[in-house]
Amino acid sequence: MTLRLRGVAKDYTVRDKTTRALDGVDLDIARGDFVCVVGASGSGKSTLLSLVAGLLLPTEGEVLLDGAPVSGPGPDRGLVFQAGALFPWRTVERNVAFGLELLGLGAAERAARVEWYLKETGLADVRHSLPRQLSGGQRQRVAIARALAGEPAVLLLDEPFGALDVQTKEDMQVLIRQIWADTGTTVLMVTHDVEEAVFLGARVVVLASDPGRIAADVDVALPPGRGLPVKREPEFLALRARIEDLVREQHRGHLDRLAGVE
Ligand code: ADP
Ligand code: MG
Repeated sequence: MTLRLRGVAKDYTVRDKTTRALDGVDLDIARGDFVCVVGASGSGKSTLLSLVAGLLLPTEGEVLLDGAPVSGPGPDRGLVFQAGALFPWRTVERNVAFGLELLGLGAAERAARVEWYLKETGLADVRHSLPRQLSGGQRQRVAIARALAGEPAVLLLDEPFGALDVQTKEDMQVLIRQIWADTGTTVLMVTHDVEEAVFLGARVVVLASDPGRIAADVDVALPPGRGLPVKREPEFLALRARIEDLVREQHRGHLDRLAGVE
């Protein structure tokens, strides 16, 4: 599945005041790609993801999945947010099964899928637990397993590890790379963490603010089978510094414009 954004703009209107959150966004994501979007807070990262998810519709331009305009949410896109929005009264396995019930899969197929994704995400032992009995990292694993179980063509992640401690976050990064390698799914992930973006992404897209737009689209030329130690390698550190500079530059330009300095 290819995902294509063409001249996408999004306006929000609050009490008669309209602000443009995104403008002129063109982006092509091929099947199996892993694209991370970084940018300062308010640069339109979540708006971009919500447009692809079909939770919002563009004011201008279009979002195309295999050439067809996105007009709403669909099972071809799996979504994970920062705070995993699990069903508190459902056990882990019933949370993972939720989307499959909606898809109308038969009981045997459902059970097989749930089994596979519980294993893939390391949740088999807590399958009968309720979300409140889990750690933050485990809860995010459930959210990821639930999104994956429907076998979406595109996995959409909005700062999914933003609330986790560093150790758990790194475990989750390794997990996501493993899942990507195992399933070949296309991933579009928003993060404000540049180290995370460079570690995970095959491409890193940098957004400029006000209005949000694409300032840079950088290929990550690191080995596909990379593990956590790559974060200490000179190539990694150089790329990370370069992208952090881009984000900082965009943010400084934004602050200058706010202050009326050109
Ligand atoms: P990010 O995820 O990069 O922090 P967002 O996409 O959440 O950025 O927001 C981009 C801009 O749009 C910000 O200026 C934000 O205040 C504005 N915005 C986001 N959501 C809404 C909304 N529902 N109503 C009005 N303005 C919004
Ligand atoms: Mg956001």
